[in-house]
Amino acid sequence: MTDTAVAPSVRTPLDPRSSLGPAVAGRLAALVGAAPGRPRRTSFAPFDGSPLGEVPLSDSADVSRAVEGARAAQPAWAALPLRERAAVLLRFHDLLLDRQEGVLDIMQLETGKARVDAFEELEDAAITARYYAHSASRHLRPRRRQGALPLLTATTEHLRPKGVVGVISPWNYPLTLAVSDAVAALMAGNGVVLKPDSQTPFTALAAVELLYEAGLPRNLFPVVCGPGAEIGPALIGAVDYVMFTGSTATGRTIARQCAERLIGFSAELGGKNPLLVLADADLHRAVEGAVRACFANSGQLCVSIERLYVVDEVYDRFVPAFVEAVRSMRIATGLGWEARMGSLVSAQQLETVTRHVDDATARGARVLTGGRPRPDLGPLFYEPTVLEGVTDEMLLGRDETFGPVVAVHRVRDEAEAVARANDSDYGLNASVWASSRTGRRVAALLRAGTVNVNDGYAAAWASHDAPMGGMKDSGVGRRHGAEGIRKYTEPQTVAVQRLLPIGPFGGMSNEQYAQTMTRAVRVLRRLPFLD
Ligand code: NAD
Repeated sequence: MTDTAVAPSVRTPLDPRSSLGPAVAGRLAALVGAAPGRPRRTSFAPFDGSPLGEVPLSDSADVSRAVEGARAAQPAWAALPLRERAAVLLRFHDLLLDRQEGVLDIMQLETGKARVDAFEELEDAAITARYYAHSASRHLRPRRRQGALPLLTATTEHLRPKGVVGVISPWNYPLTLAVSDAVAALMAGNGVVLKPDSQTPFTALAAVELLYEAGLPRNLFPVVCGPGAEIGPALIGAVDYVMFTGSTATGRTIARQCAERLIGFSAELGGKNPLLVLADADLHRAVEGAVRACFANSGQLCVSIERLYVVDEVYDRFVPAFVEAVRSMRIATGLGWEARMGSLVSAQQLETVTRHVDDATARGARVLTGGRPRPDLGPLFYEPTVLEGVTDEMLLGRDETFGPVVAVHRVRDEAEAVARANDSDYGLNASVWASSRTGRRVAALLRAGTVNVNDGYAAAWASHDAPMGGMKDSGVGRRHGAEGIRKYTEPQTVAVQRLLPIGPFGGMSNEQYAQTMTRAVRVLRRLPFLD
């Protein structure tokens, strides 16, 4: 393995107690925009609580400097031909895949996730970079528009970069949620200032280091670290657009700050996502798919499933098979590929999961499997858990748990499954297991930004050419596809008026002008193809 910043050799005999390595942690921490002497924050490995390294904490002045630097670097970047910006993203794609061992180690050490979950994330970041490198010219090209007067007005819509975009990202997918929205903003010609979650700075820094190595100017994409409530306002107060991924509560706070400044924002927020098993489902596939949908990333996934609605006709066949499959999942610590599920990320997550499950069981819900922490595996492990008899009064009923816990519900028929799936303040993702025909029909009835038929979440999420985001309290705006890059631009209409003005001309009176235009407007009414 070559000696690069993100190729730490962490596979020591002490695995998983190995640390990130002071040299690597120090090199990555040096990428944080913070003046010397700032306080530092230590990151700990969820697998075993061992310290990983420290990063300096930026303050508001550091944030302002970072935004100014990105603003100064942005015009030269925006002036580059698209293909040169795309080349940087494609080199980043290759570096991510080439250096995956080191990056996966960092992600696992920092989040406690299973390696297969870390890989899913790394792959997603690489594919998103490739997608926007290849598709940006299609999404961003100037478009001829119908002019005010046919032939006389030549009108073109251009998409100009916003300027500097602030990206605020969470800890659960610390690689792809830190860089994938950023690469779209960069591809559109913006500078970006990234504020990753304080629990997972090293993954974000490793990815940013690879972008620099791929040729991205450092000033164009600085990173600031620190508690969101403290440095978030300085960031939102200085940038031209905010891309936020995180909780609905924080999303509302950020929306208010953006509204005050009249800047745009996009927010990918929480979910309480339903999965429907209908009468014509392939139950074998549904069991396997539901396990992945509920427990990928230990359930700490915005699009993962927390509510299962199974029609009466198949309930007694589906649920026992599902419970058995969950019971046999391999939960493990360490940097190997064996584990199906890893740790939770923090004591706070463990507390939320424990509180939700304990509240449900105290109020009468039944545990079908799981239902307890596993300190024998690591300090933050919790068993994959399936509950029956969960009601709306329980915390688990309507609040997002964001952990490895799912409630199964027996429903009469498809209509009840749809009604209960929609009975939520959230509307991020839904999953339907049925024949394709039934699935497509039911999708139209569901109020969710993505609907996966015969898949849990990956089919829609990984369709990078299609928009991804939430309805209701799950978000504003979309990532991926045309929406995911055009939102980082300001449409500008350039209209060139030729030969005659739009107004009385050639000495005609106002009245003659009105009569002429009335005739012209009536003619246009008969030429619909011009509009
Ligand atoms: P969070 O809102 O607490 O934190 C997310 C980020 O926002 C962090 O970087 C944090 O430092 C920052 N932040 C916190 N308060 C802030 C403030 N006042 N101003 C500016 N920034 C602030 O969310 P979390 O608990 O870390 O993440 C989990 C949540 O994220 C879950 O609800 C999950 O569903 C959601 N999520 C959504 C998606 C999606 O695509 N819809 C993806 C991943 C996670």
